Amino acid sequence: MASPVVVIVGGGFGGVAAAKVLKNAPAEIVLIDRENHNLFQPLLYQVATSVLSPGQIGVPIRDLLRHHKNTTVILGEVVGVDQDRKQVFVCDADRQDVPIPFDYLILATGVTHSYFGHDEFEKFAPGLKNLADAEAVRNKILTAFELAEAEEDPSTHQDLLTFILVGAGPTGVEMAGAIAVMVRGTMKSEFRRIDPASARIVLVDRSSRVLASFSEKLSAAAKKRLENLGVEVKLGQNVDQIDADGIVVAGERIFSKTVIWTAGVAPSPAGKWLAAETDHAGRVRIQNDLSVAGRPEIFVVGDTASLDRGGKPLPGVAQVAIQQGRYAGKLIHRRLTGKSAPGPFSYFDKGNLAVVGKGFAVLESGKVHSSGLIAWFAWAAVHLQFLADSSLRLGVFLQWVWTYLSGRRGARLIVNPRVSEAQKAVPDTTVKAAASSG
Ligand SMILES: Cc1cc2nc3c(=O)[nH]c(=O)nc-3n(C[C@H](O)[C@H](O)[C@H](O)COP(=O)(O)OP(=O)(O)OC[C@H]3O[C@@H](n4cnc5c(N)ncnc54)[C@H](O)[C@@H]3O)c2cc1C
Repeated sequence: MASPVVVIVGGGFGGVAAAKVLKNAPAEIVLIDRENHNLFQPLLYQVATSVLSPGQIGVPIRDLLRHHKNTTVILGEVVGVDQDRKQVFVCDADRQDVPIPFDYLILATGVTHSYFGHDEFEKFAPGLKNLADAEAVRNKILTAFELAEAEEDPSTHQDLLTFILVGAGPTGVEMAGAIAVMVRGTMKSEFRRIDPASARIVLVDRSSRVLASFSEKLSAAAKKRLENLGVEVKLGQNVDQIDADGIVVAGERIFSKTVIWTAGVAPSPAGKWLAAETDHAGRVRIQNDLSVAGRPEIFVVGDTASLDRGGKPLPGVAQVAIQQGRYAGKLIHRRLTGKSAPGPFSYFDKGNLAVVGKGFAVLESGKVHSSGLIAWFAWAAVHLQFLADSSLRLGVFLQWVWTYLSGRRGARLIVNPRVSEAQKAVPDTTVKAAASSG
């Protein structure tokens, strides 16, 4: 008899945690992701600000799971689920809607950017969710300095050297701090026509505090630290407009060529695929065992799931995704081996950390609230611990020590996607033929 098939969609924190628990399960595990790598998103801002290179925070999923003999990794985008026939539909570079059957399904497809109904902002204010985004933001920031250096008319320098971050959650705060350290330190003596330290860094949020998920005292400490680093923090102000010239915030135009979206996120379409109940944000409402109501064989975990605890939905953070992925994997493993189901899922909150520039972080864990250098060491230790692979841990550790001591950054390359010579050589007729056959 064929083994039961467990399909996991998403090789992020939740999906990989589930796959790890199912390593020795008597089943065929199929993990599908549209990227070939597992990504440590909490350090994406360091790729965007040139501290780390992409290969230091991502690892191929098949490399991570190479010792899992029962697991097949498929590169493809899931576009739908047929719950009655128990199939997911996958598209890849060559094929459309390929059905993959399952006995159990775990959806761990995370979130994407949300521009709160203003999708037109995206063109001018890229977000930060994957490595392509981080490289695009890095290119944008570094290019602004190059354009300013090449520009002989000093009146245009200020627009080029104004960097705006929309959203003062952890990503916005961490990015603002990292840009400030880069312009005032790393780039100091490299330019001749411009002074990188004169760059204006503006952090805007409609909330009245930065890092609103932290205590008021820690929010205030983070804000003070940002201001000491020279970041302008504009709180309680709505961004009305983002365009090629910058932003309009509370009626004021701020000219800038580099606006970065660090605000909202929206869940993956998992709720639509399942036609399941969702919360106001569109995340799939799940039961206490993380399954979907009426579908005990379908589980949704991580950022794309919604589970209330203490009257509030669990936050969209890595710890929730990891613990839920492990739980769903364990539950399926127990069912496959005829064991009783575990008790309901319970979340253990290990705390919250955010870094603000060099040598300063805020930490909130139970009754422990701390800010400064010790919190920064805790932040560094926790991030190293949760990197997916020991080679990444070593690489990032060495890079951080070098950057900390020397002030230099490892990956300040502008890598622009250009049409290659080979692509240019393709005759026009090929394109026309492809278009007319579509
Ligand atoms: C910039 C940034 C900074 C963050 N910082 C922190 C932090 O400091 N601390 C913290 O705890 N959390 C942080 N988070 C949040 C944390 O990364 C998420 O909570 C966590 O990644 C959620 O895990 P997940 O498994 O639900 O989704 P993800 O880790 O996002 O994984 C989803 C996976 O699904 C794949 N996928 C999506 N749709 C499809 C599809 N249709 N077909 C196939 N594959 C698909 C994606 O490629 C991805 O690999 C941060 C997030 C970002 C973006």
